[in-house]
Amino acid sequence: MTISAAAPRRVLIVGAGALGISLAYHLQQLGLPHVQLVERQFPGSGSTGWSAGLVSVQLWNPDDVRLVLRSWELFTLAATRAHLSVERPGMYTLASEADAATLQTNVTAQQSVGAPVELVPRAAWAERLPTLQLDDVGAISYAAGDGMVAPGDYALALAGISRKRGAQILQNTPVRSLLVRDDVVRGITLGDGRTLEAEVVVLAAGVWSARLCESAGLGLPVCPYRTQIAILKMAQARAQPIVHDAAAGMYFRPEADEELLVGDGTTHHREDPDHYDESANVQFVESVAERLLHRMPAAASAMPAAGWAGLVLGTPDRLPLIGPHPTVEGLWLCLGGNGFGLMRAPALGELAAHRLLQRPLPSALRGLEGYGLPQRLADRWSALSVAQSGFTLR
Ligand SMILES: Cc1cc2nc3c(=O)[nH]c(=O)nc-3n(C[C@H](O)[C@H](O)[C@H](O)COP(=O)(O)OP(=O)(O)OC[C@H]3O[C@@H](n4cnc5c(N)ncnc54)[C@H](O)[C@@H]3O)c2cc1C
Repeated sequence: MTISAAAPRRVLIVGAGALGISLAYHLQQLGLPHVQLVERQFPGSGSTGWSAGLVSVQLWNPDDVRLVLRSWELFTLAATRAHLSVERPGMYTLASEADAATLQTNVTAQQSVGAPVELVPRAAWAERLPTLQLDDVGAISYAAGDGMVAPGDYALALAGISRKRGAQILQNTPVRSLLVRDDVVRGITLGDGRTLEAEVVVLAAGVWSARLCESAGLGLPVCPYRTQIAILKMAQARAQPIVHDAAAGMYFRPEADEELLVGDGTTHHREDPDHYDESANVQFVESVAERLLHRMPAAASAMPAAGWAGLVLGTPDRLPLIGPHPTVEGLWLCLGGNGFGLMRAPALGELAAHRLLQRPLPSALRGLEGYGLPQRLADRWSALSVAQSGFTLR
C-alpha cells in the first residue's frame, strides 16, 4: 500500500489501551512502516481492562451506531486471528414510561443506519424476558447482534498482531512529558529521562491524557470520572439476559455460570487517575443489589462476590477527540471514549489511522469525515469541570 507524500512515515503513540492499540493496528494495516507505542504498564492495563466489555448498537447518536457496527466487524476479524472471546447473544434496553418515546426515537435512528434493532411488543415481554419484573418499564428494544468482548484480551490480541508485523511496543515505559516547542511537537520524555524524538505523537493515554498535556502547558477539555461494577454470586446467572436497564440506571450481564456483573455506579465529579478509590463502595453495591432485586426476583439469593471502580474520560459532548490538536503541529489526539469507548475503539482506531495517513475513509466509515475532530472544541479548550454520564439513553 502507498502512503501520500505529506503523510508521516513514523508515528509514536502514547498509551496501549483499546484506542491506542487499534490505531497502531490500523496504521500498520495501511502500510505505515514505523509504528512505535509507549505504554507505562501493559496493553489494556488502563480503563480498557476495567471495562464491562459490552458492545451495543443501542446508542442515541447514529454516527456512534455506525462506529459500533464497524467495530463488530473488526472485533470478529480480530477473534479469527488471535485469542479473543466475542459473544453475541443479543441485548435488551429497558426504558421507563417517561423515557419510552426517547427509546422509540433511538430505535428509529439505529434502524436508519442499518442496525438490527427492534422494539419488543409489550405482548411479548413476559415470554422474551421471563426472569424479569417489568411493571415499571415503558418500552423495550432488542438488538440481536449485541453482546460482549473480553476487553483486556482485545488489547493484548491487537498488541500481539501488531508486534508480529513489526510495531515496537515499549511496555513498562511511562512517559513523563510531551516535548512541545514553538507550537510544534518534538517528541516525548520518558520517566527515566530519556527522550524519544518524533514528528508525530498521538496521545492515547486515556484518563491520564490531561496530565500529559499539562506537562507541555496545554489544556484538554476532558474530565476523568469514576464508574463501578459489582459481581454478584447467584444461581442461574448464566440464564439471565444482557440488559441495559436505563429505567433503573444500571446494566447487567452474566459473568460466569454463577456470577452476574452489574454496573453503572457512576459518580459525577473529577477524579485523579493516580489516586482514586479502585474498589466498589458499599453504598453502590447495596443500591445496585436493591435495584436488581426489584428487576430480577431470582436475585434474592445474590451475594456480593467482588467489585471494582474504574475511570472513564468524559468530553463535553460525549464524542471522542480523534485528530490533530487545534494548536500544536504534529500532536494528535485519540482519546475520550466516555463510558462507551471500548465498543467504538476498533472503528475509531481505523478512523484515526485514515486521518493521519490522509487516506479516504473506507465505505463503512464514509460520511464520518468530520466526526470527533478536536477542532470542534477549539473555543472550549480548557479543562472540563462537569463530569458526564455513563452509558445512557441520550
Ligand atoms: C467500570 C467500567 C466499565 C466500562 N464498561 C464499558 C463497556 O461495557 N463498553 C464500552 O464500550 N466501554 C466501557 N467502558 C469505557 C471504556 O473502558 C473506555 O472508554 C475505553 O477503554 C478507553 O480506552 P482508552 O484506550 O482511551 O484508554 P485506556 O484503556 O485507559 O488506555 C490508556 C493507556 O495509556 C497508558 N498510559 C497512561 N499514561 C501513560 C503515560 N504517562 N505513559 C505511557 N502510557 C500511559 C495507560 O496505562 C493505558 O494503558 C467502561 C469503563 C469502566 C471504567
